[in-house]
Amino acid sequence: MTRGRGTTPSYRPGSRGRLTERQRLEVCLGALLTQNTAWTNASRAIEALNRADSARLDKLVRMPSRRLEDLIRSSGYFRQKAIKLKTFAKHALTKAGIGRWLAGPLPLLREELRSLHGIGPETADSILLYAGGRPSFVVDAYTLRIGSRIGWFGQGASYDEAASFFTGRLAVSAELYAEYHALIVELAKRHCRKKPVCEGCPLRKGCRRGSAS
Ligand code: SF4
Repeated sequence: MTRGRGTTPSYRPGSRGRLTERQRLEVCLGALLTQNTAWTNASRAIEALNRADSARLDKLVRMPSRRLEDLIRSSGYFRQKAIKLKTFAKHALTKAGIGRWLAGPLPLLREELRSLHGIGPETADSILLYAGGRPSFVVDAYTLRIGSRIGWFGQGASYDEAASFFTGRLAVSAELYAEYHALIVELAKRHCRKKPVCEGCPLRKGCRRGSAS
């Protein structure tokens, strides 16, 4: 497949620095499209939106649902995701741009995002941290798995309890929160897999499960 110039998502997870408004939108689209699928599938959907020159809030709102579903098909659950994208875009359009919107008071923003259709705590915090550069700690399945195995919190810890474990101990810093999240993802891939590979894990010494194995 030939990739048209400028269709590749200009934002990659882990990107640093101040984002353009287009990159902020891509982060938000990515956060919604990567739900229940791998990033590569979400990325292909963003590429398709870029190729169709449709990665813009106003275009997403105006576009017929069928067309949007076709463009984001690679991300799976495309009908539900088309509704989520349209809801998000419609709401963001009323806020004079994503950058300005996400600069508002953090607790209120978090509630506002969570109240939108299809945006749960993880997606809301991802949008705040990576699109807004706000210090909002992202908890994902890896965080819950590693934290409960090590003993940072119980196995049935809620999203907010797990987030509080980190925010109560770390300096309030978007960069630091992003770094921690990246390290957690890396640890989950290298060692703390579904079946953990504790041998060589850098956290083994302080890990309840690892030190017992
Ligand atoms: S020691 Fe084992 S269980 Fe503990 S964090 Fe490392 S891989 Fe996971």
